[in-house]
Amino acid sequence: MNAKQLPHVVIIGAGFAGLTAAKKLRNVPVRITLVDKNNYHLFQPLLYQVAIAGLVPSQIAYPLRTIFRNQKNLTYQMGEVTSIDFDAHYVKLNGSVIAYDYLLLAVGGETNFFGMDAIRENGLQLKDIESAVDIRNHLLKMFEQASREADPEKRKAMLTFVIVGGGPTGVETSGALAELISHVLKKEYPNLEVKETHVILLEAGDALIASYPDELRKATLRLVKKKNVEVMFDAKLTDYNGQRLTLSNGMEIKANTLIWTAGVKAAGITSRLGVQVAGSGRVRAESTLQLPGHPEVYALGDAAYLENGNGQPLPMLSTVAIQQGNVVAENIKRAIRGSEQKPFHYKDPGLLATIGRNAAVARLWGISFSGLIAWLIWVALHIYRIVGFRNRLVVFIIWAWEYFFYDNQVRLITRE
Ligand SMILES: Cc1cc2nc3c(=O)[nH]c(=O)nc-3n(C[C@H](O)[C@H](O)[C@H](O)COP(=O)(O)OP(=O)(O)OC[C@H]3O[C@@H](n4cnc5c(N)ncnc54)[C@H](O)[C@@H]3O)c2cc1C
Repeated sequence: MNAKQLPHVVIIGAGFAGLTAAKKLRNVPVRITLVDKNNYHLFQPLLYQVAIAGLVPSQIAYPLRTIFRNQKNLTYQMGEVTSIDFDAHYVKLNGSVIAYDYLLLAVGGETNFFGMDAIRENGLQLKDIESAVDIRNHLLKMFEQASREADPEKRKAMLTFVIVGGGPTGVETSGALAELISHVLKKEYPNLEVKETHVILLEAGDALIASYPDELRKATLRLVKKKNVEVMFDAKLTDYNGQRLTLSNGMEIKANTLIWTAGVKAAGITSRLGVQVAGSGRVRAESTLQLPGHPEVYALGDAAYLENGNGQPLPMLSTVAIQQGNVVAENIKRAIRGSEQKPFHYKDPGLLATIGRNAAVARLWGISFSGLIAWLIWVALHIYRIVGFRNRLVVFIIWAWEYFFYDNQVRLITRE
């Protein structure tokens, strides 16, 4: 068969789900077009390291053309898909159309501010490289400004850093920021007192990493407090004007920094597709990950809504996205040879969250760990999972350096 006659698989999104499926289809007789608005795959779990000046973006992102340069059945096209015609089987991007035989909707997610425009406009978020670099620049600028500010009230607001959301991202960001202050900045801003700084973690509920088992929630709280993070429970943010935030109980906190990590929803395009969406705007998928009424379309990763055996939505995690990428690739092979589609069952690999140096929590093989052992597992796993040998090596060396010399390398303010 000539290559042009092979079934055409279009994958929108080169995140964990799309990347996995594309690689898995390497030796399958299909033509693949991988479309992403960015020309790189981003390892989002380490974005907070860019935000706290530990790593540079190129250490957690890898060019797609490099990843796929030896995969002959794949073409990469940079561009943002703006619409999909599910009846005529084509997607629109860059003013042109691409027809498909099979379509993978793997567009991931974006920050959910739950309609609170003031927080979106005046706060910071952590979702992509740009937002992580924005946080880094902002944090470092606050230190510069505070170091020349004589008014103690103003200095206090500059040195108060509020992180909203007690999930894994909020926990790791607040822990890492507290370490940046206590390990690095105190050496370089001799006129600032560490005790003048406040890292405050706001959680609307009554526990950190609420979906984890009780012993890990308690261990997390203990470890976060040990890093000097001030944790506030039942603290529901209602407003923020860039200088002052307000909680639902009327309490106000003056802070020039607010990092919102309290919500994720499916990427914008999912709301414009005219398909059924469920919680957080995720596209409802069949158990085989096919779109109801469109068996040639698969929804996967953060953009897809599927429930586990207990009727709970599957979490928006890289582990879910990777496993779904594998199953969708398998289902495309099955569709081509006319065999039955395989339903998706999530195999929970365990839980892991880091708080900072020597401090993490984990539940693996039915056993709960916290502290140094969990942290070492976290470090090893994250180095292993970063795409590209060079990145793995560089991140390993940087982390070892930071570990022994208490130094975050990337303390550069790069743009206004
Ligand atoms: C700060 C942070 C920390 C996290 N930490 C962890 C963790 O520790 N462990 C864990 O398991 N998970 C973690 N996650 C979640 C994990 O990153 C996601 O679950 C995972 O990335 C989902 O994979 P995906 O392939 O569905 O989407 P993504 O990885 O988000 O990829 C989607 C891709 O689609 C592209 N795209 C979107 N819209 C379009 C369009 N219209 N046209 C073209 N391209 C488009 C995007 O550019 C992107 O490359 C974290 C997420 C964040 C933000």
